[in-house]
Amino acid sequence: LLPPLYVITPTYRRPEQLAELTRLSHTLMLVKNVFWIVVEDATNKNHLVAELLKKTGLKHEHLLAPMPELYRKKKGPKPRGVSNRNRGLQWIRQNAKTGVFYFADDDNTYDLQLFTEIRYTKRVSMFPVGLITKLGVSSPIVRNGRFSGFYDGWVAGRKFPVDMAGFAVAVEFLLQRPKALMPFRPGFEEDGFLKSLEPFEPQDIELLASNCTKILVWHTQTKKNEPSQPLDLAKYNSTNLV
Ligand code: UDP
Ligand code: MN
Repeated sequence: LLPPLYVITPTYRRPEQLAELTRLSHTLMLVKNVFWIVVEDATNKNHLVAELLKKTGLKHEHLLAPMPELYRKKKGPKPRGVSNRNRGLQWIRQNAKTGVFYFADDDNTYDLQLFTEIRYTKRVSMFPVGLITKLGVSSPIVRNGRFSGFYDGWVAGRKFPVDMAGFAVAVEFLLQRPKALMPFRPGFEEDGFLKSLEPFEPQDIELLASNCTKILVWHTQTKKNEPSQPLDLAKYNSTNLV
């Protein structure tokens, strides 16, 4: 049997939510022995998300982890999806023993080959992420088959300048690190989490995607749509239909 693959997906309510989750669910339905942990940034469950999960037939868990008020109210960049991912980590600690987990945002695009490759992660694996920053890619740099640095559009003094979609972690590796957690620090979530996995150094990274020469995940972003309010059918019928 294949080692279990735990996919942790933060999500929140907005007009695009069901579209994003439908697309991601159809990707995951093509993956074997996958467990989907969907964590809503909300205080109550969206029943449409629950119905979607049921319809997929995927093994899943539907959890809630609202962003703390303190961060929600703050001006400027917010720690998007952090409370969700930490809740996912807590679930892993309580329920998983072996296998691998991966943080899969609801709006990214995933090649099925990615799941094949990350499933055998022993500690922490990394790989390129496409369509991110002006550079177009974020990736470990590999020379002669070995890690030799990071290529990223926003280094900002980070030890691990990588995107959330660019790494996977073995469950056993996490369980040996009871303090590992993601910080509520916009821009430094990945770095903070990876640093909390100490002892773990860049030299320990398992390099996937043909020595990081292939893009198996894209940081796609869905254009915000109008209307941002639920469709008022009565109004729609009277003004937009002929
Ligand atoms: N997200 C969330 N609450 C928010 C904003 C975002 O749970 O208030 C989730 C979102 O569904 C996604 C992840 O956090 O899975 C990252 O958010 P987003 O894609 O907006 O960030 P970006 O890709 O632009 O960094
Ligand atoms: Mn995104």
